[in-house]
Amino acid sequence: MNKGMKDSVEMKPDEACNEGEKANEEGEQVYQDRIDASKSEAVKKDLSEKPKTISTAHVIPAVGTPILMRAISCYTSMTASTRTEFVLGQSPGDRPKGVKLCKSIYDYDASSDYNKKCNGGHTEARILAELAEANQLAGARIVFNINWNDESKLPCQHCFDMICKTVNDKECGANIFICTDDNKSLDMNKECEKFKGNYQGFEDSYTIRFG
Ligand SMILES: [Zn+2]
Repeated sequence: MNKGMKDSVEMKPDEACNEGEKANEEGEQVYQDRIDASKSEAVKKDLSEKPKTISTAHVIPAVGTPILMRAISCYTSMTASTRTEFVLGQSPGDRPKGVKLCKSIYDYDASSDYNKKCNGGHTEARILAELAEANQLAGARIVFNINWNDESKLPCQHCFDMICKTVNDKECGANIFICTDDNKSLDMNKECEKFKGNYQGFEDSYTIRFG
């Protein structure tokens, strides 16, 4: 566990949301620097135009100091220059069949677009998998600040499923929050209990619809 993370301080979930917002802005700058440094117009165009997620997680592990982790979605071409800044994923071929949470296993759906195209999973999935593999998921408190393409702060269906699988694995005793549009923390242990796998219902409750 040394990629994409640095020491942080223990803080309340709402404070962690604000910290995550600042860290996401730094992440955007790392991304922009990568675009600016590219000599290839094709890569510049690709990186500029594709939708992206840049997310941060403020993690208070059961043992040890709080850490700040961040991840960026899907970009194989980002990996060389961003190795120390973001939690990397694994290519589908290298990825374990499922991520062992505590008692339960989160299975990637091998046939899904998410699995095939996204090099190592979405940002929240990457971070949870990294924590699980390092045996730091049990008892952790995790505050995700998700930024999907400056359009949404909600997890996608896959990440919602993985987050709920984690909090429903009572053996883990993990507490997960996500940050809303106005950077208030939303307790996913309660949300997962409330929506019971109904992603559409969850999304409809928290998405501000424009127009
Ligand atoms: Zn996702």
